[in-house]
Formats: sequence, C-alpha cells, structure tokens
Amino acid sequence: MAMRPDEIVAILRRQIEEFETELQVEDLGSVLMVGDGIARVYGLEKALAGELLEFPGGTYGMVLNLEQDNIGVVILGPYEHIKEGDPVRRTKRVVQVPVGEAMIGRVVNPLGQPIDGKGPIKTDKWRPIETRAPGVVDRVSVNQPLQTGLKAIDSLVPIGRGQRELIIGDRQTGKTAIAVDTILNQKDQDVICIYVAIGQKASTVAAVVDTFLKHGAMDYTIVVSATASEPSPLLYIAPYAGCAMGEEFMYQGKDVLIVYDDLSKHAAAYREMSLLLRRPPGREAYPGDIFYIHSRLLERAAKLNDELGGGSLTALPIIETQAGDISAYIPTNVISITDGQIYLESDLFYAGIRPAISVGRSVSRVGGAAQVPMMRKVAGTLRLELSQYRELAAFAQFGSDLDRQTQALLARGERMYEVLKQEQYKPMPVEEQAVSLYVAVNGYLDSIAVADVVRFERELLEFLRKERPALLAKLRQEKKFTEAIEEELKKAIVEFKKEFIS
Ligand code: ATP
Ligand code: MG
Repeated sequence: MAMRPDEIVAILRRQIEEFETELQVEDLGSVLMVGDGIARVYGLEKALAGELLEFPGGTYGMVLNLEQDNIGVVILGPYEHIKEGDPVRRTKRVVQVPVGEAMIGRVVNPLGQPIDGKGPIKTDKWRPIETRAPGVVDRVSVNQPLQTGLKAIDSLVPIGRGQRELIIGDRQTGKTAIAVDTILNQKDQDVICIYVAIGQKASTVAAVVDTFLKHGAMDYTIVVSATASEPSPLLYIAPYAGCAMGEEFMYQGKDVLIVYDDLSKHAAAYREMSLLLRRPPGREAYPGDIFYIHSRLLERAAKLNDELGGGSLTALPIIETQAGDISAYIPTNVISITDGQIYLESDLFYAGIRPAISVGRSVSRVGGAAQVPMMRKVAGTLRLELSQYRELAAFAQFGSDLDRQTQALLARGERMYEVLKQEQYKPMPVEEQAVSLYVAVNGYLDSIAVADVVRFERELLEFLRKERPALLAKLRQEKKFTEAIEEELKKAIVEFKKEFIS
C-alpha cells in the first residue's frame, strides 16, 4: 500500500479544525444583553452555577442563572465597557479569594484585592467563597467564652466561641460600636478578627479602619469592604468572601471572630440582583431563597471538635430594623438562624443608656455554658433584680406612696442600670467587669447617689489597679470568687468607700 501524504495531511488538518471548534463551543460564549450589572450570555452550555467568567478588559462575572438557551451572569466590577457580542470566556473556577496570614492587617474588596494602597498581597492560598458548613459530628458545643469587654453583654448575654449572635436595632443605636469594641477587646487574645462592611458609606468604613489602627487592632484584623457605591453583586459576595478568609484560620485550629455589618443591606443587594435577573419576587419583593443565603452563611460559624483542630468561627451579624420592628421579613429570618440576639433600642440610646441594650429582649441561647464562673455568679442576681426593677418601675409611675422595700428595689435597679453603662472604645477585662457588677448586686452602691455611680465605679477600679493589683490578678487567674478573694475584695471596697465619701 502506497503512502498518500496529501490524505494524511487533510485528515490531520480536519482533526485540528474540529478540535478548535469543540473548544469554542465549550469555553467561549458571547454577550447577548448587558445592563445594570447583569449580562445574559449565549453559548456557554457547560458553565457551572457560581462559576467565574472573564469578560473583555479583565472584568469578571459570576454565573447565577442557568437557563435553557442562555445564562444570567452578574458582573463583579465596572461594566460600562462591555458590549453586546463581546466574547466571554469560562475560567472553570468558582469564585475564590486569597486567604492566609498575609491578609491580616489589610483592607480588601470582596474579591480579596487590596484597597488600602499598601501594595499587592503575597499569598498563594485560595479558598472558594462558598463552601459547605461543618456537619454535626465535626462540631462540639460552645465551651469557651468570647469576651466582648462590654459589661452588659458579658454578664447578661454572654457569647461563646463558635456562636452566632445577632446585633439588631434601629439606625444609629450603636450597633457598629458594639462590634468594634468587641474587636478592640480581642487584643492579645489570639483571636483573628474580620470586619465585613456591606453597603456602608466609604467614609464610615474609613473611620472604622482608623479606629482599628489607633487601637492597634489592625495587627490581628482583616477588613473586607464593599461600599454603597459598588455594584450589588460585590455587596452580595462580601460576607461569603470574609467567611472564607475566616475558615482558613478556623481549620488551622485558630479562633476567629467575624462581623457582618450589615445583613439588611446584604439582603437588599441580593434583592436588587435577583429582580434584575428576573427571578420571581416574594414577600417584601425578596426572592424565595433569601432565607437560604443567610442560613448557609451563618451555618459556617462553628466550634470544631478536637480532631479537626478545635478552631472556631464566631459570627456577629448585624441587622438594621425600621422603627424597632423585629417582625419584618429579614429580622425574623436572621433571628431564627442565630443563637440569640442583642437588641438595641433608640429610646434607651437617647435616654443616655449606652450601650442601649434592651435587657429584657436580648438573649444568648448557648453562650451561658461558656461563661466564666465569677460572671455567672453576679449575672444571676443581676438579671433577676433588673427584671424586678423593670416590672416595678412600670407600676411606680402611677402610684406615689411606695413602701420601703419597693423603694429599695427601685433604687438598686437604677444603680444597676448606671453600672451597665459603658463608654465607647473602653472594653474592660473580665475581672474588672466582675468587680463592678459585684459591687452593684451586693448593695455597695445603695448609699451612693445615682449621679455618682459611674465615677464611683471608675475610681474604685483605679484604686484596685493601683493598691490591690494582686487581688485583680488572682481573680483573673481563678476566674471565680473564692472565699479568700471575696473576703479581700469586701475589705478593699469598704476601705475605698470610706475615702470616696469623705
Ligand atoms: P448605623 O445605623 O448608622 O450603622 P449604628 O447603629 O451602627 O448606626 P453607631 O454608628 O455604632 O450606630 O453609633 C451611633 C453613634 O452613637 C455614634 O456617634 C457613636 O459614637 C455613638 N455611640 C455608640 N455607642 C456609644 C456608647 N457606648 N457611648 C457613647 N456613644 C456611643
Ligand atoms: Mg453601623
């Protein structure tokens, strides 16, 4: 048989040509329609949900809708230059972000790109922004406290590592302040913090970063920022991106705290995207899977078992309510997903009770198990007496003649509310909190004028720090009021009180 080079060449050429066409069908599509940050793309039948696509000019998009003859893509970044007919390439990767130690101290956008002007981030590790939450057997129940440094929270709604505690309240009630103070309090506690700003003004985020810098908190904090001016898809992926960065540390056995500020704006961004993608609207025009987007995010907070390294991811999501309405759609959803909520009220805030935590409506469903013994001891009495006080105070408004016992209870309650007040950026170590509350629940303040309570507390702590540092150190170490400690503390308080009055 004779060789026929022509034929061989022709076959080879045909095969090469076919190979190219096949490639094109799979990996290159074209833009059918673009607008409002959404593109419809034709010809990418094999694209996966959540896959990253590349548009001309280095812009990326994420596949969200897989339809019969086209796919709906949200564009992650500027989209003005994208035109109908432009080529779109598959990357065969789902959306992922850089993770690892190099991220700490940086301010990044939801794609993990630095926006703090400190140069590129050198990391070779990436994680997909969406992953499965640890399962039931991977977890243990919360058993270690996460100290917020705020008296009202650490005593009455204690948070444990791996817990999800919602911070909920109207606008300007100090929601961000609580989260920021909690992050400041993690200094030297071996907790890595992540602050995810979703849909806030750039100036607000800058102020928060500034606070972190001023208090040295950037040494252990990552800030993920998607400001209000950014396209909604970026706002949508921001919390998942932050969570992925936290998970990296959690699976290394470390403790992580993540703040989502706030999920109301996250829900609004998702609604905007969904409506543009023409998904059917439901209650309050939110799409049907709005519960799922929040539950799958918050389920990723966990306390892992020892085989997995024992790391934890504690989540503090924030929700803004309208006129205190916690029965609106998004607030009820997130309340039901989390392990408790810290409820802030504008009335309290304007009455000068700051942090404006509503003691009656705030709960922590799992954190109590992790509370340190000395706090548990004072918190029990505190909670009881505060609820008695609230009940009586409501009635006392009507009657004028009150018996002695009622008057005493009212006086005690008023002073307790004073003690629970705390300035911003002044988180307190747990043993000092315990001392303050000890003084309140044991009646040492009853003879102090209400107006002087705050000063009394401050000066007492100064006195103890200066004159009785060993006592505070012992309390910190033992974590409970042993008989000896209690005896010594009582003596110190009496001694200080003499000086204070005179
Ligand atoms: P927004 O709805 O705008 O996000 P927010 O609920 O996050 O508001 P913050 O920004 O934390 O509220 O606080 C509102 C204002 O109250 C700020 O000016 C802040 O400085 C002040 N503030 C918050 N907590 C305290 C506090 N414990 N003591 C004194 N001032 C406080
Ligand atoms: Mg805020």
